Amino acid sequence: MAIVSIIGRPNVGKSSLFNRIAGQRLAIVDDLPGVTRDRLYAPITTDRGQFYLVDTGGLEEENSERPFAESVRRQVHLALAESDLVLFVVDGRGGINALDREVAMTLRRSERPVLVVANKIDDPKHDEAYYDVFELGFEEAIPVSAEHNRNISTLLEMIEERLPRQESLDAEDEIRVALVGRPNVGKSSILNELTGSDRSLVSDIPGTTRDVVDSVVVRDDRRFRFVDTAGLRRKSRIDSRLEYYSTVRTFQAIDRSDVVLLVMEGTEVATDQDKRLAGHIVEQGRGLVLVVNKWDLVSKDPSFGPKLLKKIREELSFVDHAPVVFVSALSGRSVGRLPEAICRVQENRCRRIVTSRLNEMLRDILAFERMPGDGKGRYLRISYLAQVSVTPPTFVFFVNDPSLVTVAFERYVIRQLRKMETFEGTPLRLFWRKKR
Ligand code: GDP
Ligand code: GDP
Repeated sequence: MAIVSIIGRPNVGKSSLFNRIAGQRLAIVDDLPGVTRDRLYAPITTDRGQFYLVDTGGLEEENSERPFAESVRRQVHLALAESDLVLFVVDGRGGINALDREVAMTLRRSERPVLVVANKIDDPKHDEAYYDVFELGFEEAIPVSAEHNRNISTLLEMIEERLPRQESLDAEDEIRVALVGRPNVGKSSILNELTGSDRSLVSDIPGTTRDVVDSVVVRDDRRFRFVDTAGLRRKSRIDSRLEYYSTVRTFQAIDRSDVVLLVMEGTEVATDQDKRLAGHIVEQGRGLVLVVNKWDLVSKDPSFGPKLLKKIREELSFVDHAPVVFVSALSGRSVGRLPEAICRVQENRCRRIVTSRLNEMLRDILAFERMPGDGKGRYLRISYLAQVSVTPPTFVFFVNDPSLVTVAFERYVIRQLRKMETFEGTPLRLFWRKKR
């Protein structure tokens, strides 16, 4: 997914625009634990595709140690480096000022795609006022009103036309792997162990303008593509105010992968950030391997391992399907087990169960389980089910009334599916449809 950043000086309406575009999506209540939507970035889905929208709200935070103009410059440079498209918001009615001109100059020099958005054009009678923005030297500008929802759908169309086409994920026989986790848990060290000296760097990824570099390595006749490892190697020491770009980059790496290695440290597992990442990984239907690194540092007490595993299972119970691998990148211990775990999980993500076997399972469920009901004598009836797709395995159940399905029942069915076949490391998706 591409990154679209909103920049502009304070009070031009950046957050209003962000909320207007992201609004619908943000309203969705997510029941996956740990998944919270941040105000500063949001995945946007339109009929033509998806992108991440970033509101560089930090631009207005005045930093006492830095002159204001300098902090603006840093923001703009960062936005340019990290984005596929920049939305440069100006006040279409209030006119252009020196700061706008300075930002415009930097943007023009960068030769990155920029779309000028003249906000606060609430009424067609203001349309003339916005002609001033052409003074900034860009070919195109669109008048909008974030507050009154004017021209926003046209703006979305213009954004989509300017985004790089999305990379297709069905690469030949290659497993895409993302390494994610908190800073300093050892992601780069693990990557170095895995790729060794025989890695080949691939820098030219279609559909990206930023420096996205993957590392490709062949092990046991399998091709592994570790995605966006430039991000890992770069180690930008950006302050927390600008963390949204690293978060979005991590999300992008997850979106581009088949299997994710969520790396944690033996001394501190299952943090809030880990939960959030695991939530996104499940939501995106990616395979997951939980990697506990720095095993050389933890207690040598033999009861420590089982206790830690119990803690991980409790705290990250919504990914209890994922294998846990204990490694030490420092000594190299068990890192060699990761490629095999990755392959296994990917195989499970592609697994199909034939309909005849599914229907055997259905008979068992119906025979042994008390079906959920509405308390007034109506019970759920399942007519048939089928697996409709893979990556991740997705099942559709045709029932008399989908509203009778309870969370507990859905969990029970997932357990039955997992008993029937090996789905280690992959989420499963269930859909309940009314039988017509
Ligand atoms: P930011 O500082 O760039 O994020 O700007 P905000 O989104 O916080 O908006 C600044 C002010 O402009 C607020 O008082 C908004 O209500 C107002 N505003 C934002 N969009 C519009 C708009 O389309 N029309 C009008 N008239 N006011 C707007
Ligand atoms: P990243 O930020 O997640 O990419 O983490 P790095 O790979 O840069 O590692 C952060 C620090 O942890 C470095 O100083 C590494 O040498 C150290 N480190 C990484 N793996 C291990 C390990 O298995 N054991 C120990 N003791 N230190 C490790």
